[in-house]
Amino acid sequence: MIIFNQTNILAFNNFITIVMEQVGPRLSYWEYEIYFKDVDVFVIGSGIVGLSTAISIKEKNPLLKIVILERGALPMGASTRNAGFACYGSMTELIEDVKRDGEDMMLELVKRRFEGLELLKKRIAPEKMNFRHQGGFEIFRSDDMESYEECLANIPYYNKLVEPITGLKNTYTIADNQIESFGFKGINHMILNQGEGELDTGLMMEELILLANKLNIRIINGINIESYESSAAGITLLTDKNWELKSKKLVIATNGFSKNLLPNIEVTSARNQVLVTDPIDGLKLKGCFHYDRGYFYFREINNRILIGGGRNLAAKAETTDSFGINNMIQSALSQLLRTTVIPYTTFEIDRRWSGILGLGPVKKPIIEKIDENVVVAVRMGGMGVAIGSLVGSEAADLVLEA
Ligand SMILES: Cc1cc2nc3c(=O)[nH]c(=O)nc-3n(C[C@H](O)[C@H](O)[C@H](O)COP(=O)(O)OP(=O)(O)OC[C@H]3O[C@@H](n4cnc5c(N)ncnc54)[C@H](O)[C@@H]3O)c2cc1C
Repeated sequence: MIIFNQTNILAFNNFITIVMEQVGPRLSYWEYEIYFKDVDVFVIGSGIVGLSTAISIKEKNPLLKIVILERGALPMGASTRNAGFACYGSMTELIEDVKRDGEDMMLELVKRRFEGLELLKKRIAPEKMNFRHQGGFEIFRSDDMESYEECLANIPYYNKLVEPITGLKNTYTIADNQIESFGFKGINHMILNQGEGELDTGLMMEELILLANKLNIRIINGINIESYESSAAGITLLTDKNWELKSKKLVIATNGFSKNLLPNIEVTSARNQVLVTDPIDGLKLKGCFHYDRGYFYFREINNRILIGGGRNLAAKAETTDSFGINNMIQSALSQLLRTTVIPYTTFEIDRRWSGILGLGPVKKPIIEKIDENVVVAVRMGGMGVAIGSLVGSEAADLVLEA
């Protein structure tokens, strides 16, 4: 039997204190004053959505103290690991979207993607993120003929539908005459979306971080938020550092990792595989390319080819929020390069990686106020480069609502 007297209660308290200090030191007076005192808004996640939300809040109310909390040493989800397509939809993608979610929702999404890219370009000069308007091409091989015929029949109708958004008379055109000049093999047809472009993802994120710094938004890396409490008095965050942090409002921008904080949210984590080649002499292709209903994608970057996707080849294994290389999918990506994309060139793979998407039953982001003080901006699908800036602006409006 343990008898609780003053001596062993003191010993127990000391023990607890030592254990807590081992998890991480307590915040000093200085650290608390500078970083965590009187925070108006904490944003969890420093991907494109977290950064854009913080930037939009500051643009709308420069006096607020905004702190972004990021668990990775770098942003560690999708925003620094994607393909950099500035896209608002290939023909097969739009046709599939209409079949699944209806025409209105498809158009709403095209509009969001278009306007999101416009806002991104307004914020960051296109040349600073190497934004190039070289078009988005959808490629069709001989086993995709049924899908191609469906697209072909729909081009005039979809051009009319999207014209008020894109401002282009013929957003989609047949581009078979460019197949040979790009050096492909086994491609029967191509459809061009002339409004699409691509950018340098690394530069885009670097510029967003610089802009956040310029606006006095503090980004703190290496801190995992384990849970939060929201009450009339405000927000309390519990962190892996054992610090209890307080603010008035909270934005959750954790995309594919959202279930850790919000177990009931309709977001499924999905891993995506990518590789990039070494530089290749005389590379001919320009623009960004979609294949197999968008499950595969590739582009040129600094005389290399970046190719990714193939999640449909191992959907179960890739339904995860753990980073990692899937050898089977990575082989399929190399194979597509060898047989179709650069069949007449020898090449080496420089780097392989993965990123984590947040998906849902409908292809629509969740931008919601879930209580008086908490706004959620998650589930960007494969479109966060395009919609992220606009999502951030909409989330900021919810935060600033009276
Ligand atoms: C391989 C790949 C290719 C893609 N290609 C394109 C493309 O070409 N064009 C396009 O438009 N979109 C593309 N996407 C999608 C796009 O990258 C994403 O939609 C977008 O980056 C999502 O941004 P986000 O800020 O919502 O999420 P993320 O970038 O995932 O950021 C979420 C952040 O939250 C942090 N975090 C999570 N939980 C916690 C916690 N508890 N505490 C602290 N921090 C936390 C994570 O570390 C992460 O940095 C691609 C995605 C992938 C994976």
